[in-house]
Amino acid sequence: MSEVSIQAERLLGRLRSPGAIGRDDDGRLVRLAVSDADRAGRDALVRWLDDAGLEIAIDRIGNIFGIWRPQDAQDEAPLLLGSHIDTVIDAGLYDGCYGVLSGLEVIETLKSSGWRPNRPIAVAAFTNEEGVRYAPDMMGSLVHAGGLSVEAALDSIGIDGTRLGDELERIGYAGELEPGFLEPHAYLELHIEQGPVLEREGLAIGAVETLQGISWQRITIEGLANHAGTTPMSLRHDAGHAAARVITFLHERAIAANMPAVAAVGSLRFEPNAINVIPARAILTVDLRDPDETRLREAETALASFSMCWPGWRASGYPSSASPGSSRSSSTADWWSRSKGLLPGAACPAAG
Ligand SMILES: [Zn+2]
Repeated sequence: MSEVSIQAERLLGRLRSPGAIGRDDDGRLVRLAVSDADRAGRDALVRWLDDAGLEIAIDRIGNIFGIWRPQDAQDEAPLLLGSHIDTVIDAGLYDGCYGVLSGLEVIETLKSSGWRPNRPIAVAAFTNEEGVRYAPDMMGSLVHAGGLSVEAALDSIGIDGTRLGDELERIGYAGELEPGFLEPHAYLELHIEQGPVLEREGLAIGAVETLQGISWQRITIEGLANHAGTTPMSLRHDAGHAAARVITFLHERAIAANMPAVAAVGSLRFEPNAINVIPARAILTVDLRDPDETRLREAETALASFSMCWPGWRASGYPSSASPGSSRSSSTADWWSRSKGLLPGAACPAAG
């Protein structure tokens, strides 16, 4: 095979085109799954697949496939390329679309070069990979891989109260093929890096080795509201201080555990939330991630043990979305009864 190369300008031009579909009044790119903007993006994609002479197939969850079937290898399992075209709120140009449109670019380039593959090559755009409007995220590929039934996915109720299946019908992308009808020989997804590591290392490209397992919890710490001026430090039950200790504990533990373990408290609320009142309650979310399920469980256990230092601690499984290929905590832990009335022990940090 002689040297071939893609048409970079064609690819970039196409990337800019869906980048213009779904701009809101503030100029933000918002192409939520199965919305009118998503339909416009899908229509553009299907036009390009059609122009490239690909066989277009749409399954019941709305995943779109453009398939190049070489004549003498029609029934071989295909090489599948792709990603998604739905976006988050205020998205960038490249997330998802880069994977789909580069897949199309590869197919068009190989086709026009006269090369004959020994198996079909297909490009896929999976429905609702972002999970902003409907849970779980990575839905289309999860259904395709058999990790979630298509019926359950179609019944997903969105943040706007709509049912995904109804919206899919409305925008005209409720296909008839059973999800998973196209079983790939291999799957390859080009994606912009979602973190800062390659840039820091000065590398142009890297390969994903694993997915982070996710554990989400919402934690409530009960303290005692009291006067911030007249209550001696030794007599305080400061839920705000306890929350700060939890944040520090998780942060330092993740640093000590080293990459790829990470932890974040992304949301924190105090009650009554006044400058001169000791917080009576702190409500925070915990996001723990690790590709190794055992280590992820250990992080959960460490947090639970740490929590025993404070009376009035409650933790619950956060209503979270599913991530295929990752482990997660779905158990609703309730340490309230166990920890109630406990005073800080010797092993505990000075509790507030
Ligand atoms: Zn993406």
